[in-house]
Amino acid sequence: MSFDSPSLEASPRLSSRMEGLRSSAIRDLLTLTARPEVISLAGGLPATELVPRERITEAAHRALADPRSVQYGETSGWAPLREIVAARESVKVGRTIDPSEVVVTHGSQQALSLLAQVLLDPGDTVVVEEPGYTGALQVFRTAQAALVPVALDADGMDTAALEQALREGLRPTLVHTVSNFHNPRGVVLSAERRVHLAALADEYGFWIIEDDPYGELWFDAPAPAPVAAHSDRVIRLSSGSKTLAPALRIGWLHGDRRVCEAVELLKQGADLCGSSLTQQIAAELLGDDAWLDGHLATVRAAYAGRARVLVSSLETAFGERISHATVHGGMFCWIEFTDGTDTARLLDTAVGHDVAFVPGGAFGVASAHPHAARLCFATYDGAVLAEGVDRLRAAHSAHRSE
Ligand code: PMP
Repeated sequence: MSFDSPSLEASPRLSSRMEGLRSSAIRDLLTLTARPEVISLAGGLPATELVPRERITEAAHRALADPRSVQYGETSGWAPLREIVAARESVKVGRTIDPSEVVVTHGSQQALSLLAQVLLDPGDTVVVEEPGYTGALQVFRTAQAALVPVALDADGMDTAALEQALREGLRPTLVHTVSNFHNPRGVVLSAERRVHLAALADEYGFWIIEDDPYGELWFDAPAPAPVAAHSDRVIRLSSGSKTLAPALRIGWLHGDRRVCEAVELLKQGADLCGSSLTQQIAAELLGDDAWLDGHLATVRAAYAGRARVLVSSLETAFGERISHATVHGGMFCWIEFTDGTDTARLLDTAVGHDVAFVPGGAFGVASAHPHAARLCFATYDGAVLAEGVDRLRAAHSAHRSE
């Protein structure tokens, strides 16, 4: 008996879903800039020295004394953590959230990925922000959705433009918004627009994903009440990545019970359950209000100081040649060169000068944002940020004279 060996062409094929899927430009850039001498303002990396490592170590010790921390756990998450999240989110949205409406996920990125599968059929329309969070764009593209961008301005998503499009017949299945300290633009969706967006969801019957990993990182004043405070059609996502540690991989979502149940079903197939150990650690840290308040105050003060250094260094280095929005929180500063600089090309020169940023095009949906750049101010202290801007200025001069 003999078998014909299959031809290479006939051998393993990838699903149609993978066609046209691109690697995240930012993740590629992180590889490119991994050299230790590079000051990378590109990655959205929280400051490791602000991660409460001692507190995590103590919590890990306590958790490990409990055999449940090394066992599989419930798919929807460690019950005490869901209760803590439900209690904290109840305060934010101004009504009681039941822990059964909370699912703990492997970072909020997994929540995005599971929600796309729960809510979208191929060809469905998803409204995204322009520029938008690349991790969400990639998830919606994988779900084979049709992406419709809505512009952002200093007050976040232009909900009047969205309303106009809806009046003209746009029928999205869902709208994705990063309501607080937007990635990449840094802006906050205004209180009026939150109410407007929620009202549009109720009128036109679409879901909203309110993706909020940065809300706690405010500098002067907390952000307005979440969009989820104004409509039941909002699935709200948040994360411990920017406040505790990205490596814990703790995120969560809450909202419509049916959606939570469907997410839980899919999560069974995705990973059975999250890490019992890191969920127990997160529960201890997020459940200690006094400690958490102090910790968040420290992180906010540090990031506010870093943002000030970055912005003032940029203003000194570039003056009128850049414009930028005021930074009120989060981790990012979005700048636009007013002198025609092509930031994708500038990046090539910048990497040669040991500094990196993300060119605006990485966040584009229908626009290329050719003169824009996202700079992260969270990762380094002020002295390094100032040095990074110095290198960027040198790279810009070199680029202009090329
Ligand atoms: N949403 C937004 C807007 C983000 O910027 C990020 C992180 N870059 C995430 C979700 C995912 O974060 P995590 O999975 O670490 O919670």
